[in-house]
Amino acid sequence: MFAFHAHPFALPLPPGHRFPLDKYARLHARIATEADALGIELHCAEPVGEAELQRVHTPEYVARVLQGRLEEREQRRIGFPWSPELVQRSLRSVGATLQALRAAIGGSGVAVNLAGGTHHAAAARGGGYCVFNDAAVAARAVQSAGLARRLLIVDLDVHQGDGTAEIFAGDPTVFTFSMHGARNYPAIKPPSDLDVALADGCGDAEYLESLDRHLPLALERARADAVIYLAGADPFVGDRLGHLALSKPGLAERDRRVLLACVERGLPVAVAMAGGYAEQVEDIVDIHAATVRLAARFARAAAEPAVLASRTAPPRYSDPVPAGERP
Ligand SMILES: [Zn+2]
Repeated sequence: MFAFHAHPFALPLPPGHRFPLDKYARLHARIATEADALGIELHCAEPVGEAELQRVHTPEYVARVLQGRLEEREQRRIGFPWSPELVQRSLRSVGATLQALRAAIGGSGVAVNLAGGTHHAAAARGGGYCVFNDAAVAARAVQSAGLARRLLIVDLDVHQGDGTAEIFAGDPTVFTFSMHGARNYPAIKPPSDLDVALADGCGDAEYLESLDRHLPLALERARADAVIYLAGADPFVGDRLGHLALSKPGLAERDRRVLLACVERGLPVAVAMAGGYAEQVEDIVDIHAATVRLAARFARAAAEPAVLASRTAPPRYSDPVPAGERP
């Protein structure tokens, strides 16, 4: 499986900034040590091109970001101060999702971006730690290259995918599905094609039951040729910003169900990590690493559908989700 990353492109953050930037380098390091065993090919992502960005974002916004002309309030909304490094990192992070989607469609079935999931960015603005919308840019790029006609974006970050919803409002070729905390950021949630709002404190059983009810609906209504999956780590019980209560095994089971649903249907899927703000950075890395390991297993299974069932049993965890809660 191909895994793309942008971790060498860190950005300078002011002292005391609470974004856990370190998670990207640590996730890369963790996956690098296991890459051979998991059959993962790690690549540093290429920066996405301006023309690709402009399929989603307005030329004015793209130019303001690239040239460092974002206003104070735009930078505050994004949550990062502008820097040349922020531009470089944003371009590579979008590039990683696009390359993962191309790889998945091109035959690997499943591929990942070790970052990405910047779903709060809309056509003319960023927000919530997101500068450009990687999933939207990737979707538009493969459409315009004739690699896919219809796409499904499965957004399981704990925050609603407002930017993505806004970008694809009224576009029947990209189906947006967001499952998120009802009372969480963003305050204003423009409608996705399918929104599922969860109450604070929602745990594994309730979450997985809701996923089982809505994911087949999204797949059916989307009639997609390819899927982009935002596997946010922020529904985790230990997340500072999440307000939900999923366990690590619960999140792994969520990933397994999404990947199984896609691979069973022969749908290529690009996985982006999206948000994660647990107090302990290692918890975020654990959750993302589990997603990547599972994706690698599914990529191997996608190449040999006959052994799909036997290869995709949940990975070892100390506290597995009870068998009764599995499909
Ligand atoms: Zn989030």
